[in-house]
Amino acid sequence: MKGSYDPSTVEAKWQKVWNSAKTFQTDLKKAKHPYYSLVMFPYPSGDKLHVGHWYNFAPADSYARYQRMKGMDVFEPMGFDAFGLPAENYAIKTGTPPAESITKNVETMIQQLSRIGTMYDWQKTLNTSDSSYYRWTQWLFLQMYKHKLAYKKMGLVNYCPKDQTVLANEQVKEGLCDRCGTEVIQKPLDQWFWKITQYAEKLLSNLDTLDWPEKTKLMQRNWIGKSEGSEVHFKIEGSTEILKIFTTRVDTIFGCTFVVLAPDHPLVEKITPKEHWGAVHAYREETKKKTDMQRTDLNKDKTGVAIGAFAINPVTEERVPIWIADFVLGHYGTGAVFADAHDERDFLFAKKYGIPLKPTLKPESGESSAIENLEECFSGDGILYNSGEFSGLHSAIARKKITAWLEDKDCGRSVTQFRLRDWLVSRQRYWGSPIPIVYDPEGNAHPIPEKHLPWMLPTDVEFLPTGRSPLHQSKEFIERTEKIFGKGWTPEFDTMDTFVCSSFYYLRYLAQGDEKHLIDPAIEKKWMPVSMYIGGPEHATMHLIYARFVMMALKDFGFVSHEEPFQRLVHQGLITNQGAKMSKSKGNVVSPDSFVADYGSDVFRMYLMFMGPFTDGGDWSDTGIKGIIRFVQRVHTVLTEKTNKKVVQEIPQHAQVLHKSIKSVTESIEQLHFNTAISGLMQFINALEERESIPLDTAKVFVRLLSPLAPHLAQEIWDTLGEKEFVHDELWPEYDSKFLQSDTMTIVVQVNGKVRGDIVVSSDASKEEIISLAKEQDNVKKFLDGNPKKEIYVPGKLVSFVV
Ligand SMILES: [Zn+2]
Repeated sequence: MKGSYDPSTVEAKWQKVWNSAKTFQTDLKKAKHPYYSLVMFPYPSGDKLHVGHWYNFAPADSYARYQRMKGMDVFEPMGFDAFGLPAENYAIKTGTPPAESITKNVETMIQQLSRIGTMYDWQKTLNTSDSSYYRWTQWLFLQMYKHKLAYKKMGLVNYCPKDQTVLANEQVKEGLCDRCGTEVIQKPLDQWFWKITQYAEKLLSNLDTLDWPEKTKLMQRNWIGKSEGSEVHFKIEGSTEILKIFTTRVDTIFGCTFVVLAPDHPLVEKITPKEHWGAVHAYREETKKKTDMQRTDLNKDKTGVAIGAFAINPVTEERVPIWIADFVLGHYGTGAVFADAHDERDFLFAKKYGIPLKPTLKPESGESSAIENLEECFSGDGILYNSGEFSGLHSAIARKKITAWLEDKDCGRSVTQFRLRDWLVSRQRYWGSPIPIVYDPEGNAHPIPEKHLPWMLPTDVEFLPTGRSPLHQSKEFIERTEKIFGKGWTPEFDTMDTFVCSSFYYLRYLAQGDEKHLIDPAIEKKWMPVSMYIGGPEHATMHLIYARFVMMALKDFGFVSHEEPFQRLVHQGLITNQGAKMSKSKGNVVSPDSFVADYGSDVFRMYLMFMGPFTDGGDWSDTGIKGIIRFVQRVHTVLTEKTNKKVVQEIPQHAQVLHKSIKSVTESIEQLHFNTAISGLMQFINALEERESIPLDTAKVFVRLLSPLAPHLAQEIWDTLGEKEFVHDELWPEYDSKFLQSDTMTIVVQVNGKVRGDIVVSSDASKEEIISLAKEQDNVKKFLDGNPKKEIYVPGKLVSFVV
């Protein structure tokens, strides 16, 4: 589309000028009003910047630019989450070592990112695969180790046979590998864990203090999964072992007729009689082939095996058979449940295997014979019967009383359980930070002293996965370890989960070049927590929980002063293409580069923002972008051709449009409703276009309002208007409500029938707002002397107080 405005020349020109003026470099020490604007940093995987990145980064920059014009010292950094599977997979696909491809991909991405025209402070960029960065990833591991929050444990782990790596629970979606979709299997491996569970309570309670989307907070609450319950101790017949069972339904314990252990429960080996071992062993092998999701799927038929041992129900002293069944997971709760007639799953399991059931609970009212006859399962709260001294009590009361009884008899206690598991940080992959641990010839783990950091990732390694940690192949790595620590010493061959790298990067942006400290405490105190964090909702549980945990731990270690890293969090919506999610396989991915080359970055940015509310996203259309192209040309033409520099001030008859526009654009941006902010500017330019000429001040207000949304265009017009400073350094325009006449009404205020003043309120103000505003008037207040006896409001006209 032809027009007077040529974005490609203009945008390149201003980007160069901004760069050489260093206008986006933030002096972290001197800044008086810190505003830390952060977006989730990208993986430089070689797929280049896509629309999703743009939709995360560009509107975030627009909001940061608005904050800057509101007088804040904005810090807006950008970096690269370069370790991990995407980079390694790309390297495997293309046959180039990750270090090489990453360097190239980062360069490409920096060029693309620079073309957005954001305020990134490139002086303070970071790349998590640089040794200057992963030195701190390793330092963090050492701190966790020192404070006993890092430990090694053998356990069944999720394993992807295709990627040949261990996956965290979070990386398994419905039994499939989150990365490649292959079915995940269980594999026993020695792994490093970080004790995030120690912070479960704080991770949960602090959520109330955060300005985050409610949905995300709810996802974290569910992920942490707190439940209050009881632990019941069952004796094992003919054994000194005690079986501990966690339950939230101790009110049904009188009906417990069998108990079920997870197949891998440690007691199984100790208490299974020899003659049952064959069947038990076969069942356990079968279980290993299943994922957690398959095991707990409510719709699947349940299987199990009686192990031939018996437990003693502590409240009835009856002996009950012990079973193993794969629907009980070893790593959840105590890995054991007591089973009874008032749990749907137990009920069906008992019916299937002919285990007797005993009903002990009925509903508070209504027919209950089907329940008493075991024709149907009642699993709600109700009234106890067949339950000794607790018969007749309501479930809720019975739970407390039975737990107290168990505590008294020393065979149980009240406990709080969390669904949250410790964070598995070991990865059997090449492209990650080496774990700073070495083993002595006896196999004991020792932390690597800090003076040896960064503990370099060796380069003499085939990066193709083999099922074993690739670092095993490095001669240099093994020799290095022996040279420093002694003959027979070996390094840890696993690398760290990439979520470790991203759990503290927000601190390292603030500590650029500091090799002595993770972060300067004064800078941390001043700049943290992050003022605004914007990124995808897919990070609701993993990254956003890990980062909170790490920040809390660092506070306890004494390195930071804040507990929470991100005070305000916003998730951008999704950009679709004709209703469908963009994906390479569908071939419907919109490449920003060609649109930016044709129409400029401002047009692309504004079109994305115009599609819908930022948190909802929108649907891409090649023709829709034309409206924004026309808008940009029109703004340029109207303001450069019609502005009369000799007439500065606006005349009263046009003041209303001016102030209304300021108000609507300001309120829209404040709420991240960039789409309505752009509509506001469209209406404003329509009004200006109809006029013979535009006073300079009004033109300047328009350009300032436009500046966060179309920074290059705004700067170009600003320059044409004869301004010497950058428009992004101007103050945000303020509106004067006295010019918003049609939207307001004047209300007279009387006290005991005498007029004591008047107030100007918005015409949609409520009665309550108007009365409370009326009471606050100085001249009214002094006649009120406390609360009036009567308050009368005549809509649109009068407030009358009687004292
Ligand atoms: Zn996989």
